[in-house]
Amino acid sequence: MEVRLKILFTSLCHTDVYFWEAKGQTPLFPRIFGHEAGGIVESVGEGVTDLEPGDHVLPVFTGECKECRHCKSEESNMCDLLRINTDRGVMLNDGKSRFSINGQPIYHFVGTSTFSEYTVVHVGCVAKINPAAPLDKVCVLSCGISTGLGATLNVAKPGKGSTVAIFGLGAVGLAAAEGARMAGASRIIGVDLNSKRFNEAKKFGVTEFVNPKDHGKPVQEVIAEMTGGGVDRSVECTGNINAMISAYECVHDGWGVAVLVGVPNKDDAFKTHPMNVLNEKTLKGTFFGNYKPRSDLPLVVEKYMNKELQLEKFITHEVPFSEINKAFDYMLRGDSLRCVIRMDA
Ligand code: NAD
Ligand code: ZN
Repeated sequence: MEVRLKILFTSLCHTDVYFWEAKGQTPLFPRIFGHEAGGIVESVGEGVTDLEPGDHVLPVFTGECKECRHCKSEESNMCDLLRINTDRGVMLNDGKSRFSINGQPIYHFVGTSTFSEYTVVHVGCVAKINPAAPLDKVCVLSCGISTGLGATLNVAKPGKGSTVAIFGLGAVGLAAAEGARMAGASRIIGVDLNSKRFNEAKKFGVTEFVNPKDHGKPVQEVIAEMTGGGVDRSVECTGNINAMISAYECVHDGWGVAVLVGVPNKDDAFKTHPMNVLNEKTLKGTFFGNYKPRSDLPLVVEKYMNKELQLEKFITHEVPFSEINKAFDYMLRGDSLRCVIRMDA
């Protein structure tokens, strides 16, 4: 059930940076990072029937076996077999890695390891897409952009004319904003500590901005004042625990829904007064925007192909593979949304 992919383009998502920094986790080294990518099937292993060499594909950090309770449920994308596992650095089939150097294993990362010219992936983590789709653009749908978009469209589900707050205006947050715009939200409030983000965010339909550093009180209070009690929906895309709590507390009582997307630090704990829950504020979270990778991702690619969704504005940088470290610098400086890395250069 394995496929070998030739990776043509990959891009850097904050999750790679987070696991590279290995804050508070048990790091598994050496390993090959990378999980946002586009490529071509080079060969297929025993048992693979729905992919063949030459197919254009996006690998995904979480999978869809199509057999388990989750895959059969309309509500879940948390596949029992292939859901994201950041501790497993080996293939499911034999518990071994497909990468080595001088006989020593190099581990996999979230089942994808796309910072490599070739990688081996479980077939359930591979979405076959329209071969006409340009892989240097749609590669960003393999994680961040689909995650943000789906967090809004599939999980937060804002109604027409609603007010939505987006915490964190990186690529994931701006994709969430794009989802709010597509859903017809009338006010989209962007929250970020980095004011450089605000200009860019206008292109994504963000109508108002809040930098928590500019206010002497919690950002949830600022938002409550701006909106007459709170927003209808909020989507958190920072990975910062305080932002997660603010994103929850800033939704309106009675109907507000907050969706967490950011990956927290290992020892973080979410703390809020239970009265907020009794007051009918709802807290949700999602991996990969609730999209099922194999069934749904090809349809997200079609949204790009029929111009419902623009991807160019997310791609702020491009570098050859030999300069991949620049992509890390751009992200750490807060200068990039997505830096696409070209593997053949
Ligand atoms: P990014 O670094 O480009 O963007 C994060 C933004 O959040 C930055 O602009 C930063 O200034 C801002 N920020 C940080 N702390 C903040 C705070 N306390 N208040 C307000 N803003 C704050 O990262 P990205 O690639 O857009 O990813 C965003 C998050 O989503 C990361 O935590 C990443 O790990 C996570 N992620 C989750 C999934 C999933 O399936 N759940 C998928 C992809 C990425
Ligand atoms: Zn499954």
